[in-house]
Amino acid sequence: MKSWRDKEEFKTRLVEWAARLDVKVRGLYVRPMRHKWASCSTAGTLSFNDELLEMERDLGDYVIVHELLHFAVPNHGKLWKSLMRAHIGEYEHLEARMKQAAPNTGKVC
Ligand SMILES: [Zn+2]
Repeated sequence: MKSWRDKEEFKTRLVEWAARLDVKVRGLYVRPMRHKWASCSTAGTLSFNDELLEMERDLGDYVIVHELLHFAVPNHGKLWKSLMRAHIGEYEHLEARMKQAAPNTGKVC
């Protein structure tokens, strides 16, 4: 699978997912981050690690949906997991691939 063409393509994808999941995103940043793939603030701002742009697109989708679901569910509990499965399917495989591709970056968030 291919990686992202550029930052704009990634942002467009995020806006599509946000509409589908009914999440209001107030700010969106794609920037260098050292130890995480993404973060979200209670004010509705999302940040994504710009290294995601170099990775395959399905991994980007995984991180996008992971973050957007945190607007409704702030943890990684049962509800979050069942929503992940509903939208992304076997997300554990994607999580494992991310760890393999970039072991130093660590968790999504
Ligand atoms: Zn998370």
